[in-house]
Amino acid sequence: MDCLFCRIIAGEIPSTKVYEDDKILAFRDIAPKAPVHILVIPKQHIGGADEVNAENCAVISHIFTKIAEIAKSEGLKDGYRVVSNVGQHGCQSVRHLHFHILGGKQLSEDMV
Ligand code: AMP
Repeated sequence: MDCLFCRIIAGEIPSTKVYEDDKILAFRDIAPKAPVHILVIPKQHIGGADEVNAENCAVISHIFTKIAEIAKSEGLKDGYRVVSNVGQHGCQSVRHLHFHILGGKQLSEDMV
């Protein structure tokens, strides 16, 4: 298994878990870019947002349902950002679909 996030799911690499169920895992980013920086990933290996399709898309709505709950439990009442980087131009560094939850401070308007 050469996917870092698959190894985190398998428990081979430690993570600070925020939420877990049979379909998804949420854990704290090892290099936080904001006071709250959480990654939410499907347990099924999907390479990125560019590999979401009709067969595997059910987990996406589940992820967003849980993102709302996680943000609430983290106290992000004034808002937050959800980001998924894709491929080289998107600066995706881990090729396993993940959504960053960033918050806990006023974020920049700049996206690029
Ligand atoms: P991206 O650059 O969008 O692919 O995001 C990958 C994220 O994974 C980065 O924000 C990294 O800091 C984070 N990351 C890499 N390794 C780990 C790890 N072992 N535990 C938690 N987060 C990690």
